[in-house]
Amino acid sequence: MQEKIFKLKGKVMHYAWGGDRFIPQWLGINNPDHKPFAEYWMGAHPSASSTINTHTGPINLQDAIREMPAFILGEKVYESYGELPFLFKILDVRDALSIQVHPSKTAAAKGFDAEDIMGKPINAKDRNYKDRNHKPEIMVALSDFWLLHGFLQQIELQKRLDSIKAFNDLAGIFREKGYKAFYKEVMQMPQEKVDYMLLPLVKSALKRKKTLAKEDPDYWVAKYYLDKIPTHIDRGIFSIYFFNLLHLKKGEGIFQGAGLPHAYLEGKNIELMANSDNVLRAGLTPKHIDVPELLKHVIFKGTDPRILKGIDDGKGNLVYESAVPDFGISALKLKKEECHQYISTSSEIIVVIEGIAELKGSRKLTIKRGEAALICAGENYTIKSKEKLLAFKAFVP
Ligand SMILES: [Zn+2]
Repeated sequence: MQEKIFKLKGKVMHYAWGGDRFIPQWLGINNPDHKPFAEYWMGAHPSASSTINTHTGPINLQDAIREMPAFILGEKVYESYGELPFLFKILDVRDALSIQVHPSKTAAAKGFDAEDIMGKPINAKDRNYKDRNHKPEIMVALSDFWLLHGFLQQIELQKRLDSIKAFNDLAGIFREKGYKAFYKEVMQMPQEKVDYMLLPLVKSALKRKKTLAKEDPDYWVAKYYLDKIPTHIDRGIFSIYFFNLLHLKKGEGIFQGAGLPHAYLEGKNIELMANSDNVLRAGLTPKHIDVPELLKHVIFKGTDPRILKGIDDGKGNLVYESAVPDFGISALKLKKEECHQYISTSSEIIVVIEGIAELKGSRKLTIKRGEAALICAGENYTIKSKEKLLAFKAFVP
């Protein structure tokens, strides 16, 4: 019988916004130079594919899938996607990430082709579309986690705008013309006007930084500029006041679909997304911002955040509701010596956050904290916890 369970080794991404402790500690490695360990990627993305350990040695997962696609992915997933449809990540967010929006699948394909026709190289700094795919995301908090998630509901946003003197003009525009005209005004405003409106708010937030609570948008404004008052203010600061500021507790999740503006502010999480790198940015970044393109994709309405708690499937799995067919995520919470049986209907990746898991199917494999496994489609296997276990599973529903 051919083996269908492999140890999987992911890749670390050292983006500047990452923390320097959580991921190295979880992986059990030293980080004497305090390098930022922002993300740990598990999947077959062309720019950072994981490797799997086979009896003949380590193989790049992307290559392995190319060689035996149906065997690894399963017939159905292979026919629908032709590749592993998801990318699984662990994140340690120390500093805020850019405010961003992801395109729908149709819009991504259209945008990608248009940029190709224009002859923009795929790695060009001003290229918006890196592939033809959408990039919905679902995440589960591994610690207290703070993020911006969609526009405030109309009444709340109006109240917020009315209560801040600097936003008086914007309050009028929003009242009369709604979300789109108001957001467009802010995103296209000349830089001098941005500075004029936001500088007093930044200064005031910095002055009060020690007394601010994390529920207060001013806290995140002050954190973004720490001790130095800049001459020019990033217009992304507006969105800290306009969006839902969410606090997820450990174990809570959230889904972000196409068109929903969002930004991670702080905390550790596990994130699962479609295999794509299509990001349109709207601030809190020195990177390229294409305002007309961005405005095409933002869904202009208030968002009522739906915090996911997971649904118990009776087999130790808390399944978080994903709104897309590309991926699903569940948390495996087992007591010591608990054992359950599963059948994989697609490729699955299991990653252990805490504890030790013994996988038994076509072969036996033990994975502990900091380790992951790939399970090919059509495997009948058991998971037994050697001690209290917290693991996450990514799969195609
Ligand atoms: Zn995103």
